[in-house]
Amino acid sequence: MDTMKATRYQERLQRRRQQILATAGRLQKESRELAGQRHLDWLDQAWDENEARLLDQLSEGYLRELGRIERALGRILSGTYGLCTACHHPIEKGRLDLFPETEFCLPCQEMRERFEKAA
Ligand SMILES: [Zn+2]
Repeated sequence: MDTMKATRYQERLQRRRQQILATAGRLQKESRELAGQRHLDWLDQAWDENEARLLDQLSEGYLRELGRIERALGRILSGTYGLCTACHHPIEKGRLDLFPETEFCLPCQEMRERFEKAA
């Protein structure tokens, strides 16, 4: 992939990274506030616990996405961005446009999903 194109994806990845970090920070703060409120308002305890669990799951999803973004940024630096990390063929442009952090081409992604379902 030429540098101009890679730079555009790099900018998108960095913007998304900032967004996630900002959201994750806010979620963490909310989850701390919930934990602080819990003993003050025991009537709402069940609801709060569900909410805290939801926030945890959300943060986990963000962390996983953040990991994919960091790895994609690393591939841009090492010049292998846009290549499937499994078969080393170029990833479809449409996929990169939708998911700039994607690691696999469509056939490899589909194969992995089939294996994951079977497992
Ligand atoms: Zn592949």
